Amino acid sequence: MKIYLSSADYVEYLSKVAAVIKDHKDYITMLDAETGDGDHWVNLNMGFDKLLDEKEALKEMSLTAMFKKIAIILMSTIGGSSGVLYGSAYLKASQVVDGKSKINAFLLKEILKAKLDGIMERGKAKPGFKTMIDTLYRALEYMIEAFNNNASDREVLLAMKKGAEYGMNETAQMEAVKGRACYQSDKGIGKLDPGAVTMYYQLEALADYILEKS
Ligand code: ADP
Ligand code: MG
Repeated sequence: MKIYLSSADYVEYLSKVAAVIKDHKDYITMLDAETGDGDHWVNLNMGFDKLLDEKEALKEMSLTAMFKKIAIILMSTIGGSSGVLYGSAYLKASQVVDGKSKINAFLLKEILKAKLDGIMERGKAKPGFKTMIDTLYRALEYMIEAFNNNASDREVLLAMKKGAEYGMNETAQMEAVKGRACYQSDKGIGKLDPGAVTMYYQLEALADYILEKS
C-alpha cells in the first residue's frame, strides 16, 4: 500500500474523525471536567459537525484551499483554546500542500510538522507541557524515525499511530504548564490531557483510514 490522498479522501477521513469524537463524548467531557472546564468535547464536536456540513464543497477544493477553509471553519466554530490552535495548525499545513494534488508519505510528514509548528507558535507551548502537542510531537518523532529506517508506508503509519499513543499516555505523568490544567493544585498529574486524547483519535483515525482504504 501507498499513502496517496486526494482532497476527497481527506474529507472522508474527517468524517471518520467526526464519528470517533461522537463516540467518546462522556470520556472526553469527563477528562476535561477533571483538569479543565469540561467543554473540550462540545467544542471539538461542534467544529467537526460544521466541517461535515461543508463536506461537498471541501471535496472539490485543492488541498491548499481545503486546508485553509478547514482552518477558518475550526477557528470560527470551536470555542476555547483548541479552535484557535487547530485553526493555526491547518493554516500552516495549507502552506506545505500548496501546488500539490495528492498527499504522499513525505507530504503527510510535512503536514504533521506544519501542524505541530502552528500549534506550538500559537499556543506558545512545547512538548512536555501536557497538551495536544505531546501526542503530535511523538507521532511525528516516530514517523521520522521510520523514514530514517527506510520503512514502508504501512510501517510509517503504524509508527505514527504508536508514537501518538505514547505521547498521549505520557501526558498523564506531566505537570501542566499551559492550558487550564495548570490552574489545578496538582497540575493535572495522574490524568490524561483531553486535548492530547482527541489529537490521538485524529491521528489513529488517519492511520486506520489509509491502511483500510488501500
Ligand atoms: P479551553 O481550554 O479554552 O476550555 P478546550 O477545552 O477546547 O479549550 O481545549 C483544551 C485543550 O487544549 C487542552 O486539553 C490542551 O490539550 C489544549 N491546549 C490548551 N492550551 C494550549 C496551548 N497553549 N498550547 C497547546 N495546547 C493547548
Ligand atoms: Mg475546556
